[in-house]
Amino acid sequence: MAGIYIHVPFCKTRCHYCDFFKSTKVQYRNQFLGQLLKELEERSDFFSKSEKVIHSVYFGGGTPSLLAVEQLEEVLNVIRKEYSLADDTEFTIEVNPDDLDAEYLSGLRSLGFNRISLGIQSFFDEDLKKMGRRHNSIQSRNVIEQTFAAGFENVGIDLIYGLPWSDQEKFLQNLIVMNQYPLKHLSAYHLTIEPNTQFGRDKKRKKLSEIEEEQSEQLFWMLHDEAEKLGFEHYEISNFCRDGLYSRHNTSYWTGKSYLGAGPGAHSFDGIRRFWNKSDLHQYLESGYQSGVSNEILTENDRFNECLMLGLRTRKGIDLEDLKANHFGLMSQFENNIQKWTERGLLQQECGRIFGTRKGWFLIDGIIEDLFEV
Ligand code: SF4
Repeated sequence: MAGIYIHVPFCKTRCHYCDFFKSTKVQYRNQFLGQLLKELEERSDFFSKSEKVIHSVYFGGGTPSLLAVEQLEEVLNVIRKEYSLADDTEFTIEVNPDDLDAEYLSGLRSLGFNRISLGIQSFFDEDLKKMGRRHNSIQSRNVIEQTFAAGFENVGIDLIYGLPWSDQEKFLQNLIVMNQYPLKHLSAYHLTIEPNTQFGRDKKRKKLSEIEEEQSEQLFWMLHDEAEKLGFEHYEISNFCRDGLYSRHNTSYWTGKSYLGAGPGAHSFDGIRRFWNKSDLHQYLESGYQSGVSNEILTENDRFNECLMLGLRTRKGIDLEDLKANHFGLMSQFENNIQKWTERGLLQQECGRIFGTRKGWFLIDGIIEDLFEV
């Protein structure tokens, strides 16, 4: 299930928690578009023959909804011309509520987008304001309704939890509001305070701090239990879906498939080698992706560690036969290493798979780090 990822690196303003690569210089959109089209044309032989057919095209950012419908159409035209797309390709776009209206949404539908991810983050105005979001809760609700009215069926939202000024009850209210709509996907991220953000600076000045780990764990399991009650499958630590509609884009990362990432800061993987474009908008505008694309061949240990990192974050965990087939030489050490975690009841083996238990899944990042081969 190979995929294409387009990184649109513009945002009108910076949200207070966000350390993604982006620029507020939205006036460079046209110039960016020219270089992006060139990059997609020049890298059209990126995929090997066996992974030539693309099943997912994903516009992320930044804020893809800062591109006009006509600009998005130009990008899709090049992708359709230069790459082999499966008949049922999933075309996803991440959008922000403050950029949308009914006309824009129906424009997206007419371009062939069949999946949309709305950056809602919270249905409370207080949260949105404190996070530096540009929309309010009324816009959120209107936009969800307009999205369905435009004919989208596969609609997902993002929410953030673990906000220092909030509590469980308020987050539960977010899930109740969310359930008023027939959404197919939820990405729910715990707030992390990164140094290079407004929240990071607030933390340094002791105006803000993360919530206690115990509270985080309670919130995580409340989210899990409530979302499952509402018919969502919690299929990856931060992702939930209804009707088996996993995000194809993320799934291809988690299953080690090839993907091409275009735009400044975007990463690609061809099955052997990992590439990353330089996170520098100006260099990209001046000389395109060629100005700073780096690459490395993944070592056996890198590939093994990646497998653990991506696989153990999913609910189903890792197929041990697959792991053995691909990393035979590392298996006996791995089997020794997992013993302490299974004995402590944090990992479990069942039906040939290994995965985090209810106690262990919340702690999975630390466990994965311990299992890494260096
Ligand atoms: S959270 Fe999204 S909209 Fe906000 S600054 Fe980051 S990329 Fe831009």
